[in-house]
Amino acid sequence: NSVIQTKDIAKIYKMGTETVEALKSVTINIDKGEYVAFMGPSGSGKSTLMNIIGCLDTPTRGTYELAGQNVSETSENDLAEIRNKEIGFVFQTFNLLPRQSSLENVALPLVYAGFSKSQREERALEVLGSVGLADRAYHKPNELSGGQRQRVAIARALVNNPSIILADEPTGNLDTKTSYEIMELFQMLHDQGNTIVMVTHEDDIAQYAHRIIRMRDGLVESDNINNDITRVG
Ligand code: ADP
Ligand code: ADP
Repeated sequence: NSVIQTKDIAKIYKMGTETVEALKSVTINIDKGEYVAFMGPSGSGKSTLMNIIGCLDTPTRGTYELAGQNVSETSENDLAEIRNKEIGFVFQTFNLLPRQSSLENVALPLVYAGFSKSQREERALEVLGSVGLADRAYHKPNELSGGQRQRVAIARALVNNPSIILADEPTGNLDTKTSYEIMELFQMLHDQGNTIVMVTHEDDIAQYAHRIIRMRDGLVESDNINNDITRVG
């Protein structure tokens, strides 16, 4: 029951006469409900692969199926639609709209999905409650701590019930204690059946995932079930 299926994908960037083979041949299956961490040195192809998995870009060669749809040869417009429906993004820098409340930030993806204002508010409040921020719904990002901002971003990622949550260095801007709190929230989301794909360069953060895939030079170097899962509390 794969939600993510890449078959022999390559990504080649052309810059003038130079070409960079950012991905050489990557075949990965990720099942619904898995919690995967991607690791690997800078330049190993993680961002390129995340961009493809997240439907921000398409591979030069090979196929990518997301939730059963072949998205490797999809047009820019259709890609945006699939992205809005199937993927919840969480970023290192939170990427919240600074002048909008938590509620408005979380409700934003629902605007494109065509829900009414009252439906959007109801759903956004529900999801804010599920990440422990019901009492911060009307605060703006600058009135929140880093950990609370990332919770708002996670609520926004969840609001459309996506097939996968794609998190790029989600703890990169957080202190150690707050990072672990965010990882406990991810653990809870995983326990609820969400599929989580995360990029991190921190070993202790990767330990929360159930599967660790290491990239090197545009290839999968190792792909292991994590037998040493960190559980707090
Ligand atoms: P990371 O922090 O994951 O190592 P990078 O610093 O490699 O990311 O890349 C940051 C962004 O710049 C990415 O979106 C990547 O696609 C882009 N990028 C990386 N290398 C190049 C390059 N040589 N030319 C143009 N864009 C690049
Ligand atoms: P990582 O995220 O692991 O740091 P990237 O996917 O950002 O790796 O980069 C893989 C390789 O592709 C690097 O050599 C990088 O310089 C190159 N690259 C990434 N994005 C671009 C781009 N938009 N244009 C040209 N080269 C790129």
